Amino acid sequence: MSHVLAAVAWPYANGPRHIGHVSGFGVPSDVFARYMRMAGHDVLMVSGTDEHGTPIQVQADAEGVTPRELADRYNRVIAEDLRALGLSYDLFTRTTTRNHYAVVQELFQGLHRNGYIVPKVTTGAISPSTGRTLPDRYIEGTCPICGYDSARGDQCDNCGNQLDPVDLIDPKSKINGETPKFVETEHFFLDLPALADVLRQWLDTREGWRPNVLRFSKNLLDDLQPRAITRDLEWGVPIPLDGWRDRGDKRIYVWFDAVIGYLSASIEWARRTGDPEAWRKWWSADGEGKDARGYYFMGKDNIVFHSVIWPALLSGYSGEGSNDGEPGELGRLNLPTEVVSSEYLTMEGRKFSSSRKVVIYVRDFLERYDADALRYFIAVAGPESNDTDFTWAEFLRRNNDELVAGWGNLVNRSVSMAAKNFGAIPPVDPAGLTEADEALLATARAGFAVVGDLIAKHRQKQAIGEAMKVVAEANKYLSEQAPWKLKDEADKPRMGTILHVALQVVSDANTLLTPFLPHSAQKIHELLGGTGVHAPMPVIEEADDLDGGPAYPVLTGDYTVGARWESVPVQAGRPLAAPKPVFRKLDPSIVEEELARLAG
Ligand SMILES: [Zn+2]
Repeated sequence: MSHVLAAVAWPYANGPRHIGHVSGFGVPSDVFARYMRMAGHDVLMVSGTDEHGTPIQVQADAEGVTPRELADRYNRVIAEDLRALGLSYDLFTRTTTRNHYAVVQELFQGLHRNGYIVPKVTTGAISPSTGRTLPDRYIEGTCPICGYDSARGDQCDNCGNQLDPVDLIDPKSKINGETPKFVETEHFFLDLPALADVLRQWLDTREGWRPNVLRFSKNLLDDLQPRAITRDLEWGVPIPLDGWRDRGDKRIYVWFDAVIGYLSASIEWARRTGDPEAWRKWWSADGEGKDARGYYFMGKDNIVFHSVIWPALLSGYSGEGSNDGEPGELGRLNLPTEVVSSEYLTMEGRKFSSSRKVVIYVRDFLERYDADALRYFIAVAGPESNDTDFTWAEFLRRNNDELVAGWGNLVNRSVSMAAKNFGAIPPVDPAGLTEADEALLATARAGFAVVGDLIAKHRQKQAIGEAMKVVAEANKYLSEQAPWKLKDEADKPRMGTILHVALQVVSDANTLLTPFLPHSAQKIHELLGGTGVHAPMPVIEEADDLDGGPAYPVLTGDYTVGARWESVPVQAGRPLAAPKPVFRKLDPSIVEEELARLAG
């Protein structure tokens, strides 16, 4: 048993999340966390909404609200989506808490003290009307290399060259069309080159990562430059240095603050449990947290922040780069054990895009379909290690042919036949088990090691495939044994044995599928006569800010209860009732309807 941190990417609070987002970071991290808890580990799963930065400021201005009001709105929407999907966060919080500000400032100060944060005067683009930093991608102009007239400040999408906004011909702000002003401005930079060696040593010792993620991360080290970590912006965490603290126009850059959320959320979680030092069991590189493991879940566009920037911040704060230094008051901190990055989900062959309406929002999806139907699709056909495409036709097929006709049918026919003929889980006939009975039971029991090992290695597609193989074997067994033909009184003991075996395998398969399909797992547990919590679910609580700020909703839960990762013998004699179907068969007409919705 060990301490396992499941650190899940922070969704940006500028709108509702679509199913592409949750297929990358959300569902896979929950499957992993649920399995690890069931296997007996002490899991801490944290995240929250990422709420600072220019995009939220710009959108709030456009709507005539404050950035905080905009963030409040989408923090709540996103927390509700994640709850409805059954994502079992120990704490899902946000970056606008006072606790987060304090932890971000502590890391900034520690890095600064150790010499890894340095001031530098640079030329930067600002909006003349607001005085705010105009980020590179908000500047558009003509490419100085190929002449393309809609090149972005950071890159030309036509010729693919990296650009500097100051080189664009006729640059314009994408926010309001004005010509940006290029001014000399002082900012703080993270001295990444001073941390390159320690990062390389760390990456060289990583095992089990997806090869493309490790290769990509190592390549990033070849050209590390100091990176700006402050901006001209009012919306963000203040810079905790004398002469800067009270300035209204300079803030810590959003990416620097958001990535620290993993640590600040862990500290907030500990403070809320009444044991404010408990977070150290997952984080302290010395003493009680030294054997803890940390797994970070995200889409591939975020790899750099988790495999380079975040470990760089942690190393510098711990005093471990080429400038040396001393750990700050939080002590030496653990670097990630593994960065688990997924690929992209596309939608009917196109990239998800809220602006172009190529999108299915989580809440719209869950209004029409069950959470486990989506979780199943993501597990069997999601973008685990390749870009994959969501199509409604494939969703329908997976739901009807696999979930309903495979798993749902096995549950339904086993329970209903036993309920109808015995009113309870029948006993095994004293004549004993046949070879076929033993073989099926052994297959199900063997599933625990196989499926568990695959989930622990982040091969969830293969893992659910193995669990569904147990289901297929059980369906085959029922067809071959045909208990429905054993109607004579003399045959009834054998019928009971077959159904007992089938119900045992339903129970085992249900446990194997619990990390993937927690909602239906709870229902099936109850169909088998079980009571109590089988698959614990997250809840939203209205919480006070621990340091006197405004209250906000948090997603949390009690996950100490629930099934363990083991075969539990079903008890003969336990009453059974005629089951209601657990999964919904969908009408093929939904494909046309959904495509029309997408087009309209
Ligand atoms: Zn170009």
